[in-house]
Amino acid sequence: MEDTVRTWVEVDGEALRHNLAWVRRQIGPGRGILAVVKANAYGHGGRLVARALAHDTAVFGVANVSEAIELGDAAGGRDIMLLSPCFPAERRVAVERGFIATVSSADEAAAFAGFGPVRVNFKIDTGMGRAGCNAQSAGPELARLAGLDSVRVHSISTHLPCADGDSGFTRHQLEAFQEIAASARQFFPGVLRHSLNSAGILLGGFDQADLVRPGLLLYGVSPTPDAHPPLRPALSWKARVVLTRVLPAGSSVSYGRDFTTSSELPTAIVSVGYADGFPRQLSGRGACVLIRGVRCPVLGRVTMDQIVVDTRGVSGVESGDVAVLIGQDGKECLTANEMADRAGTISWDILTGLGRRVAHVPSPGGGMAFASTESP
Ligand SMILES: *Cc1c(COP(=O)(O)O)cnc(C)c1O
Repeated sequence: MEDTVRTWVEVDGEALRHNLAWVRRQIGPGRGILAVVKANAYGHGGRLVARALAHDTAVFGVANVSEAIELGDAAGGRDIMLLSPCFPAERRVAVERGFIATVSSADEAAAFAGFGPVRVNFKIDTGMGRAGCNAQSAGPELARLAGLDSVRVHSISTHLPCADGDSGFTRHQLEAFQEIAASARQFFPGVLRHSLNSAGILLGGFDQADLVRPGLLLYGVSPTPDAHPPLRPALSWKARVVLTRVLPAGSSVSYGRDFTTSSELPTAIVSVGYADGFPRQLSGRGACVLIRGVRCPVLGRVTMDQIVVDTRGVSGVESGDVAVLIGQDGKECLTANEMADRAGTISWDILTGLGRRVAHVPSPGGGMAFASTESP
């Protein structure tokens, strides 16, 4: 990495492929993977990730039309599904580009079909309370969908709000979904059924799944603290030390003066801040970065562009040194889940919160082929 790049992530293509292969082994043959690459592939770089995963991906899942367009040729000709609803003004381009639209009603499907033949994912709300058709009205809606000439129902799906916790509720949801999916199959014999996100995949039980929809698992992060699937985190986040100083005893550090040195203290300023997605909520929470393989506590508040860390445990720190924010350094490792816990949020939020100033590079030896001129 060039000496002047302040903060960047390294993305490991081998790890992505390892994680995809692990999902494949869980679900067995004869089922497809809908690889979720929305939000710039959870901060990993949408196009880079799509290229690394296309070989065993049936469908790429993105949130919206602009993400789908951005994926473009990196999707390797795989189908692209829009997981969130479209605005009316987006329907024409969705149809023209052949994206699979997620719809909650026959009327919504018909509105797409006004622009030409369309494939849709018919979503059923079995307990998420977000998009989807009310489970009670699924039957009549399916009959109406079957009457629409230009609509092909590619798949029928539902979403699980608590597959990582409430297994009773999840089982109930899956049963309701299976019943609806069975009647959908009478109207649309080849329709694909999908309901399992990462936490759902960890629950197992793939009999009724023609596709699974992993996001977080592909990036090598467990969706629950209780499960430890043998995955490899695909992303390391780094930033450079930009200045080192020894603060005298009694010096206060950062805004609000929440921290004061009790003795002389060697410190380093690391060039990352909340504008880069390093959570401001980590202030005063015992967060660390790794410098030369040593945990260095963050002192005082996280600022927009910089953090101050305690380098007592490590000698010879100088400007330009690399600090690891997420990832391995020697024997020490910091995970996205650990950062999320300390910040009072979830790893999805940490990864998708990576800021625009964070550069993307392939991990050394990660087998990720992409042009250095390409933005991820
Ligand atoms: C984001 C998303 C997923 C992936 O969720 P993970 O928990 O990251 O696996 C799956 N399905 C839908 C509909 C989504 O929006």
